[in-house]
Amino acid sequence: MTATLIDGKAVAAEVEAEVRAEIARSGLRPGLTVIRVGNDPASEIYVRNKARKAEELGLAGDERIFPDTMSEEALLDEIARLNEDDAVDGILVQLPLPPQIDSKKVIDAISPAKDVDGFHPISVGRLHLGRPTFAPCTPAGVMRLLASTGLNPAGANAVVLGRSDIVGKPMAALLLGANATVTICHSKTADLPSVTRNADILVAAIGKPYFVTAEMVKPGAVVIDVGINRVGPDFAARLAHDEQKSRVLAKNGHATVGDVDFARVREVAGWITPVPGGVGPMTIAMLMKNTLTAALRRRT
Ligand code: NAP
Repeated sequence: MTATLIDGKAVAAEVEAEVRAEIARSGLRPGLTVIRVGNDPASEIYVRNKARKAEELGLAGDERIFPDTMSEEALLDEIARLNEDDAVDGILVQLPLPPQIDSKKVIDAISPAKDVDGFHPISVGRLHLGRPTFAPCTPAGVMRLLASTGLNPAGANAVVLGRSDIVGKPMAALLLGANATVTICHSKTADLPSVTRNADILVAAIGKPYFVTAEMVKPGAVVIDVGINRVGPDFAARLAHDEQKSRVLAKNGHATVGDVDFARVREVAGWITPVPGGVGPMTIAMLMKNTLTAALRRRT
């Protein structure tokens, strides 16, 4: 059996089209401000892409860049200003922050009404209570990918690998909200393969290349790979069975792979997301949707 591919780019494009249409219908121009402190190269790309996508869809995207010497107080002042600014509907602070700034304090300072990342404790509490909130973008994107398969998570055994605040925990809350029977696994879980083999829906979010092997997957399961791992030549032997990835690695000296051994697991699973092109494109699309929702809630 070869799994059906879940096309994250296509589903993200659907979400983006919905955002565009709702912006046209409502006549609003939702404002998203993305803050970056310092010059982390990955953050630089993420922040630019978020602001650019906002503009492309008809939102007002504002990128604010500060030096890595910025004080915690100055960043908190900036957030207080944005909380008061009526043109700003969503505030996102790109993590990680430099060591002199306590990211928890910064997240707590964002108004929950503008917390489009869904990381504020009030947003997290609402999510777990099943109340309207902003769900964190990556797990919200995974739910949308699941919906695209037409399979109903209700009653399914869902296993989430990883318990981070930004992916694993909110993922589990969303699956529970959709009436799945949810198990959360982490680095201390005993006999992990026996748990994952029971999963009708398996979400991998641990940040370990090719951690999930075919033996860990129930035949026919939906496998969603959140992991993004850059591997180098030392990983060539582990990739050897995957012609496409091996070619990329040989050409570029590195390759991006997920937490799932895609080439082998796709022979067992019923549905699977690729990396890249699976969960990745969904994160920005869901951020745009959350920002639109924030604007609709605040202004209509
Ligand atoms: P994280 O904060 O490092 O959390 C990793 C989780 O995996 C932890 O809960 C950890 O358990 C668990 N874990 C680590 N090794 C394990 C093992 N051997 N067995 C079982 N569990 C293990 O990572 P994250 O921020 O959630 O990100 C996870 C991955 O998703 C990364 O590759 C990241 O790049 C990717 N990601 C992608 C997107 C996207 O847009 N596609 C967005 C966010 C993250 P403990 O809690 O016990 O330590």
